[in-house]
Amino acid sequence: MYNDRVIEEFRHPQNVGEVENYNAIGTVGNEVCGDIMQITLRIEDNIIKDAKFKTFGCTAAVATSSMATSMIIGKTVEEASKLTNKDVIEALGGLPPQKIHCSVLAEEAIGLAIEDYKKKNQK
Ligand SMILES: [Zn+2]
Repeated sequence: MYNDRVIEEFRHPQNVGEVENYNAIGTVGNEVCGDIMQITLRIEDNIIKDAKFKTFGCTAAVATSSMATSMIIGKTVEEASKLTNKDVIEALGGLPPQKIHCSVLAEEAIGLAIEDYKKKNQK
């Protein structure tokens, strides 16, 4: 069902946990497989310095959170907010069609975290 890249990412996920002193947080869930994902970010000078995730979910949810957080570290807030689930799926070499909805979680959680950051930093 899953390709080797996805399974590798699931077995050895990167950026698991919660960023110390995070200043942005986003939590999303999906009813279909009961996945819950929380993303925390440390944003400094408009750059994503660190990103971590906690996911209670299926293989696809874990693999995409791991990949998505790796992809946004070092990017600007604008670049990170443009990351789509398609970019993440491509980086993972594809996902089974019935699991595409799980990959949307990472994109949504990152989007919410960035919104949270912007709200907190409104001048
Ligand atoms: Zn799922």
